[in-house]
Amino acid sequence: MIYLAIMTTKVIIVGAGPAGLLLAHYLLRRGNYQISIYERRSDPTHVSFSNDRTFPIALSERAKKAIRSIPGLEERVLSQGTFITGSLSHQKNGKVRRNTRKKPLLMMDRFGLVNTLLQELIKKNQNQSLKLYFNCQCTQVNLQEKTLEFTREDGEKFTDNYDLLIGADGANSAVRNAFINSENEPFECELSYVKDVYKTLFIHRNNEQGELNLEAGKIHNWGSGESLRIILVPQAKKALNGVIIYEAKNNLLENFSTKEDILKFFADYFPELSKILPEEEAKALLNRPISRVLTVHCNRYHQGNNVLIIGDAAHSVSPSLGQGCNSALEDVEIFNNLLDEMGDNWSQAVPEFTRRRVTDAQALRELSNYVFPRGNKKLFFEFFLRLNIGRFFHKILPNFFPPVFTDQIWESSVSYSEILQSCQGWVTKVKKAYRS
Ligand SMILES: Cc1cc2nc3c(=O)[nH]c(=O)nc-3n(C[C@H](O)[C@H](O)[C@H](O)COP(=O)(O)OP(=O)(O)OC[C@H]3O[C@@H](n4cnc5c(N)ncnc54)[C@H](O)[C@@H]3O)c2cc1C
Repeated sequence: MIYLAIMTTKVIIVGAGPAGLLLAHYLLRRGNYQISIYERRSDPTHVSFSNDRTFPIALSERAKKAIRSIPGLEERVLSQGTFITGSLSHQKNGKVRRNTRKKPLLMMDRFGLVNTLLQELIKKNQNQSLKLYFNCQCTQVNLQEKTLEFTREDGEKFTDNYDLLIGADGANSAVRNAFINSENEPFECELSYVKDVYKTLFIHRNNEQGELNLEAGKIHNWGSGESLRIILVPQAKKALNGVIIYEAKNNLLENFSTKEDILKFFADYFPELSKILPEEEAKALLNRPISRVLTVHCNRYHQGNNVLIIGDAAHSVSPSLGQGCNSALEDVEIFNNLLDEMGDNWSQAVPEFTRRRVTDAQALRELSNYVFPRGNKKLFFEFFLRLNIGRFFHKILPNFFPPVFTDQIWESSVSYSEILQSCQGWVTKVKKAYRS
């Protein structure tokens, strides 16, 4: 059967994260789709910020390019974000290591990004073409019948049917899980957790506890060894949002049962920050869930000619390079370009998306796992030496020396495969060091 989009083509998008919401923007602009978005969580326009699991996301050129085609969206996102011009690593002895960026980096917390994409979507589409359902978790996918089962918060179940289905439902994708049972097309999917876990953290630079003088416009890191770090990003009104990250095997925060345990932990490991950690945040931190990042590696992103997975559902990677969201938004732009090329013929565009994207996503996985050498001081030193030498030569002879690979990742939309090719030697070296 051929799916040519006509007025009545019904698209269900599972997941109102960055990828699902941006795709809805694009499809609704095309003008010939009826879109229903189902989201497991509450409507972000109705919940308070700190109740949500959120963390700062760095949006590089790739993400900005993807949202640029939707009129007014880039401006709205830029106006909500914070521009970062470098990072400061705070040492235990009070010294600070500084890393300056040539181009400012746009940072935004996930909650703010999703909220902005959603508000703009609603504002632009106040008609019957868009239906939003929150607190509805997709629990069953029947690819033969083209139906989905959802469970509401109160446990009530209901079904809906689709012509075209998009799984933008993150690393634990229910839509992707349905591919596993497909008999005709072999589906290989490897899932693995990164070795770190994290909890989100929200503090203010000055409160009744005290004041910490932190430079604005910088990412602030406190490291207590490789396996325990806090990363905070300054926000408006002296707020600091970020994460505490540690190796899962260390079970650091799991055994704490009172806020006093948390306060003592900060006093021992992060004395500077303990000065501004209020008791309420220590209590909230204790109760906040510990999150793990699941990475996803599969051989195809489509099923038949009417089902597609995008973003983390298709290729979740370790956050070490800050490219998960960037690549998720880039997926949407790439798929929209395919619809342009193929005149909205989904039968062609859906399998073509796999062909165009799998190699790139695999390259991103390699880059995310092996660009930063962890736990090896010699390689770490070599890494920064390579960056500094590469940047120097690019500055004086830009026609002969391309930008260094990290700058290409963050500041260009050159494909991940091309970037990997340009630094394959380095990636292989880091990989070898990990294995030895
Ligand atoms: C600590 C941390 C830092 C990060 N930093 C960066 C960064 O700096 N830069 C960057 O580019 N990326 C970063 N990332 C990665 C980035 O957050 C993700 O890649 C991005 O959010 C993926 O977007 P998505 O829309 O594909 O999936 P998600 O953001 O996971 O959204 C999926 C949505 O689907 C919903 N959902 C899931 N299952 C169901 C279901 N069964 N039914 C209905 N709804 C469902 C979820 O509630 C969610 O809202 C970071 C990730 C972490 C954990």
